[in-house]
Amino acid sequence: MDDAEHRADLTVWAVGAALPGIFPELACGRPAGQVSYYLDSPALPCGPGAPAWLDLGRAMYGIGALSGAGVKVVPDVEAPPGVPPASPPELPGAARAYLRQRFPALAGAPVLAAETCTYTTTENEEFVLGRHPAAPTVWLVGGDSGHGFKNAPAWGSYVCDVLEGKTSPHPRWRLRPRATTR
Ligand SMILES: Cc1cc2nc3c(=O)[nH]c(=O)nc-3n(C[C@H](O)[C@H](O)[C@H](O)COP(=O)(O)OP(=O)(O)OC[C@H]3O[C@@H](n4cnc5c(N)ncnc54)[C@H](O)[C@@H]3O)c2cc1C
Repeated sequence: MDDAEHRADLTVWAVGAALPGIFPELACGRPAGQVSYYLDSPALPCGPGAPAWLDLGRAMYGIGALSGAGVKVVPDVEAPPGVPPASPPELPGAARAYLRQRFPALAGAPVLAAETCTYTTTENEEFVLGRHPAAPTVWLVGGDSGHGFKNAPAWGSYVCDVLEGKTSPHPRWRLRPRATTR
């Protein structure tokens, strides 16, 4: 890097959960968090072949143990962004009760680790993709609402098509000024 001024034909801000803080004047989401727990279950067939599961009605989801990380169990509730989980980590009581009912063999499994997932959530849980209203060569991309990883190949390819002018961005992802009154 040097101190010279550099000009670009196109500038893309795809900075994840930092996006709302850098562009507070635009409705491009807000940082949110969610805590994932990894349970020890050596005796269970919860390895790479185990299916991921999502219980929308009970707001819980998880995946089998991958790369020795333990079985992932996540209460689908929002936590403060960027705040590490309590140490030592312990699964909330409601999640333990859920496991006792749905996955009895995991009910007493010790927690190996926990981590806070920080992401950007939007009002409608849609992605964000649009030109900055005051700078037409500046694009903002983000608003993953916690689903950016699995959607990355398709979303990334679509974003490239938009940036290269091959297609127009769908209005559902548009940027707009943030409302000043509630
Ligand atoms: C623990 C955890 C678990 C998750 N689990 C899942 C899951 O199971 N499924 C799923 O689909 N998604 C999951 N997610 C969410 C997923 O990771 C995000 O949706 C995705 O990473 C968002 O992609 P992004 O490229 O928009 O942002 P990021 O991946 O956050 O990338 C943004 C990049 O911008 C850089 N940056 C930030 N500020 C600046 C700046 N001012 N200047 C320059 N660079 C900057 C950052 O360093 C980073 O490299 C999880 C996230 C976490 C943290």
